[in-house]
Amino acid sequence: MKRAASVLLAVLVLAIPLAGATAIVDNQPASWSKPIRPYRVVGNIYYVGSEGLSAWLISSSEGHVLLDSGASAAGAKLIEANIQTLGFRLSDVKVLINTHAHFDHAGGLAQLKADTGAKVWASRLDEPALEKGQHFGDNDNGLTPFPAVKVDKAFGEGQKLKLGENLLVAHLTPGHTIGCTTWTTQVIDRGRPLNVTFNCSTSVAGNVLVGNKTYKTIVADYRATFAALKALPTDVMLPSHEEQGDLLAKRKKMLAGDINAYIDPTELARYATASEAAFDKDLARQQAARQP
Ligand SMILES: [Zn+2]
Repeated sequence: MKRAASVLLAVLVLAIPLAGATAIVDNQPASWSKPIRPYRVVGNIYYVGSEGLSAWLISSSEGHVLLDSGASAAGAKLIEANIQTLGFRLSDVKVLINTHAHFDHAGGLAQLKADTGAKVWASRLDEPALEKGQHFGDNDNGLTPFPAVKVDKAFGEGQKLKLGENLLVAHLTPGHTIGCTTWTTQVIDRGRPLNVTFNCSTSVAGNVLVGNKTYKTIVADYRATFAALKALPTDVMLPSHEEQGDLLAKRKKMLAGDINAYIDPTELARYATASEAAFDKDLARQQAARQP
């Protein structure tokens, strides 16, 4: 029950227009700041987020990459404590990457950058939002401000991030934000090669789909993203919110001895299909609301 309630709250916070940015930033689900014991997921990928908000550490012998930051400086501190609990040094985090420029995934970047000295990499189209510290594009939830962060490297489609034995590849999957970035990598887990996808969010989340003046291609972008995600070979889908991939349930299975708890080669395509259906419904609702 407790979990269902928090999931419902997360859905409400992200999906329903509220009275401006402050309401959302100030009324976050408790799970977003609730600590959870960090753990190894597959290969050299570790979960270092809170119970409800993902953050992923991809470790290597030459330093680590951290994906997403929590919602605030406090969220960053929680992630830092998790990294240290796993036995890693903060100074070995070399690159900070981000699924997208929304406060719940980027609000801790400035703090993490200050504490680790790592470089921030971001897609060229999300760079301005990160450096301003606010959402880009017309959104019924407003601009949802967060601490701005200087981007050290802005990139486009197909950017590779090589660190030590790791190779991450950026796939632009815009819509949810204009620079939404899905990262992929391959790991070896118990001798098995696995394709891992860190998918960017695909929910509508208050985005104006009809007559968006600052983000005119938003509908076409969402559609291209749904198609791209369905076609992306993925054995392990690692999303940016717990409820998008039932991460707590998978963790439970893993603790019970299931070594395949995170492996599901059809999950990303199913997730993209479900997101598309929700998108179509919201688009129809917004179109109906604009009828004279
Ligand atoms: Zn978002």
